[in-house]
Amino acid sequence: MDFKSYIREINDFPVPGISFKDITTLLQNGAVYKEAINEMARRLKEVEIDCIAGPEARGFVIGAPLAYALGVGFIPIRKSGKLPGETIEADYALEYGKDKLAMHKDAIKLGQKVLIADDLLATGGTIATSINLIEQLGGEVVGATFLIELLELRGRDKLGSIDIISLVTY
Ligand code: 5GP
Repeated sequence: MDFKSYIREINDFPVPGISFKDITTLLQNGAVYKEAINEMARRLKEVEIDCIAGPEARGFVIGAPLAYALGVGFIPIRKSGKLPGETIEADYALEYGKDKLAMHKDAIKLGQKVLIADDLLATGGTIATSINLIEQLGGEVVGATFLIELLELRGRDKLGSIDIISLVTY
């Protein structure tokens, strides 16, 4: 399926010079959204995964239905101050800004194989920070999956040797 044709590009959002890849136009089409998740699930069929972790907020939109499709648990990676239990935190830099990500200390069991899911891989900062948190908790990151990868920003260079799946590239 031509997923790219369902993604809208909005220039100068959220700051001048950025061409934002808007996935809401894909998500609002039930058949296309479903096929995107099913396509990821098909590509992950041979990969041993214990759970999926996804960063707030668009990582939930991809990670949660994918976890449901694969029959594994979903673990939210959230902005600082949002999770109610005991957390660990790490700073991260975005393509346009910076923030802190947090996970519950008991979210992952030692040695669990974790797949990370998000809507888009840009500089790789979000996912590198997510890997850092998951590894601190004793998890093993086996891969990462995205709807979109922005190749020019070379995010995958920051992610070591994990398997990376992206359905659409720019
Ligand atoms: P990175 O940390 O790889 O530089 O940026 C990726 C994160 O920023 C993702 O969590 C993603 O949701 C968000 N992001 C950055 N640029 C875009 C964009 O053009 N479109 C969308 N949908 N998300 C973006």
